[in-house]
Amino acid sequence: PPAPLLGAADIRRLAAELDIRPTKTLGQNFVIDGNTIRRIVAAAQLGEGETVLEVGPGLGSLTLGLLDAAERVVAVEIDPVLAGRLPATVRQWRPERADALDVVLADALRVTELPHPPTALVANLPYNVAVPVVLNLLARFPSLRSGLVMVQDEVADRLAAGPGSKVYGVPSVKAAWYARMAKAGVIGMNVFWPAPKIASGLVRFTRHDPPATTASREEVFAVIDAAFAQRRKTLRAALSGWAGSPALAEQALVRAGIDPTARGEVLDIAAYARIAEGKAPTA
Ligand code: SAM
Repeated sequence: PPAPLLGAADIRRLAAELDIRPTKTLGQNFVIDGNTIRRIVAAAQLGEGETVLEVGPGLGSLTLGLLDAAERVVAVEIDPVLAGRLPATVRQWRPERADALDVVLADALRVTELPHPPTALVANLPYNVAVPVVLNLLARFPSLRSGLVMVQDEVADRLAAGPGSKVYGVPSVKAAWYARMAKAGVIGMNVFWPAPKIASGLVRFTRHDPPATTASREEVFAVIDAAFAQRRKTLRAALSGWAGSPALAEQALVRAGIDPTARGEVLDIAAYARIAEGKAPTA
């Protein structure tokens, strides 16, 4: 039979025992449904011997599921009460796997060191920091090869969007620097306590090489920020501040083989890399 996972009654009992009131600012919505956990773990498509980085383990719903599928789990939690309770929860529910868990009390936006290099990111992310967390972790930990994250459904669509899509934007292009992102499902509100007001979406990613370019990631990201800051303008207009003048913006675009009257939402990450490369050196 499948190993037991935390259900609604377990989550309520743990929350009462710890006297916690889930906070919105930390995006604390806990999964209370074992089937959802099994779905997330299956969608992560973990291979042999993976070290999973879980951001925001909370009361441990997903952590227990991950301990069945991964070799190790490194759980990064910002809330000291939740981080403090997690080892005991795992000893209680999966005593034989307790040694496979590391709990790190830290902010996932700032964490620079982990006890083991993570190979996959699997997380039900705090919604208000989901995109920066994914981008920062991909930048910080090159050992991360794949991942499956649960985020707000509209953010999932944005992360997975390609050029020309209505929801294609800064998160889509920056994420594409690191990885191929694909939507992997929608999750309703009633599998959480407390229930959020909007649906959640799953996004799976696989790392790929960034586009070949002499420009740095920071330089490429600066072009992306400038292009989407004025989404409705032509690239020549939107990039004039970045380049120094409309004429210099036009020059960089032409060098990159891009129509200066096009808009940023039609360009892929490789095109942004070419624009960054075509920037005239500033005096
Ligand atoms: N994984 C649990 C689950 O699925 O039931 C909880 C997920 S809940 C959506 C998000 C979790 O992330 C909470 O436990 C919250 O305390 C934690 N969190 C919020 N901001 C964080 C941050 N910057 N770094 C690490 N953890 C954070």
